[in-house]
Amino acid sequence: MKPFTPQLVYIEPRALEYPLGRELKEKFENMGLEIRETTSHNQVRGIPGENELQKYRNAKSTLVVGVRKTLKFDTSKPSAEYAIPLATGCMGHCHYCYLQTTLGSKPYIRTYVNLEEIFDQAQKYMDERKPEITRFEAACTSDIVGLDHLTHSLKKTIEFIGQSEYGRLRFVTKFHHVDHLLDANHNGKTRFRFSVNSRYVIKNFEPGTSSFEERLQAARKVADAKYPLGFIVAPIYLHEDWKDGYLELFKRLSEELKGVEIPDLTFELIQHRFTKPAKNVIAKRYPKTKLEMNEEKRKYKWGRYGIGKYVYPDEAQKDIQTTIRGYIETYFPNAKVEYFT
Ligand code: SF4
Repeated sequence: MKPFTPQLVYIEPRALEYPLGRELKEKFENMGLEIRETTSHNQVRGIPGENELQKYRNAKSTLVVGVRKTLKFDTSKPSAEYAIPLATGCMGHCHYCYLQTTLGSKPYIRTYVNLEEIFDQAQKYMDERKPEITRFEAACTSDIVGLDHLTHSLKKTIEFIGQSEYGRLRFVTKFHHVDHLLDANHNGKTRFRFSVNSRYVIKNFEPGTSSFEERLQAARKVADAKYPLGFIVAPIYLHEDWKDGYLELFKRLSEELKGVEIPDLTFELIQHRFTKPAKNVIAKRYPKTKLEMNEEKRKYKWGRYGIGKYVYPDEAQKDIQTTIRGYIETYFPNAKVEYFT
């Protein structure tokens, strides 16, 4: 999997008032990329494509350089107190990805250059809560690692949180382009997580992301760089022979990580879920998907904004928990399971 290179770049004029905005413009010019101006990162017009599907695919390789105006951070339960807004959108094509609906008509990738303002706001949240620890999640609206080789804004955030007294940072990725992050002064305050799944799920539903082996090689490097390391098993999806599939995952994980020192390994477990609007969008964008979204086989769970989710029924949820927690106890007896949701 090659590192992401945008096919088309849009820049908001205001972004050029910030050093990172200017730096990115120069970088993309030197790379010979087509650069256009956009008045606002919320209203990008003219992404090429003859139909919706082509426009969607092209949007996923379009990068918009903008200024984040809304500095009120969203909450990010259960993994953190706040989502730190560094970027939105992703170059990956995971069929089940919730960004397909949460980003609505803006599937293009946006990166924000007003980092100082974002950090000032994060500092305010930390000050409000101290002496409690404040955790920030950097991958709520994007796969930030997949983009960071171009911007280094995640790296700067890692170092900013590294110097803080009460801050912690976390993010999750399916990309292996981590080399530039290895020498960041993280001070043990950033938890680096990789998303892993059964062979079936990765093969069928995660095109456009790094392979399992690549992710695991990156995880080894990250552990060697003394970052706290974690894995998110998500979405846990009940395909045929799923118990064997997830057993194989944990066997491979433990083999690949043999000999690597990981003092406080964590796992987060998230079952597959979908909403009705998401189901419709997925059917349009990935019409051949094998992703099963049959409401009748699921349990309806009321959600935020009145949009409920379809999760697995209680019995199946119990089965998932017992099975996966059992595998973790067998293969990683010292690891902590942070939550199942
Ligand atoms: Fe969505 Fe993550 Fe896949 Fe990107 S890598 S498409 S953010 S699930």
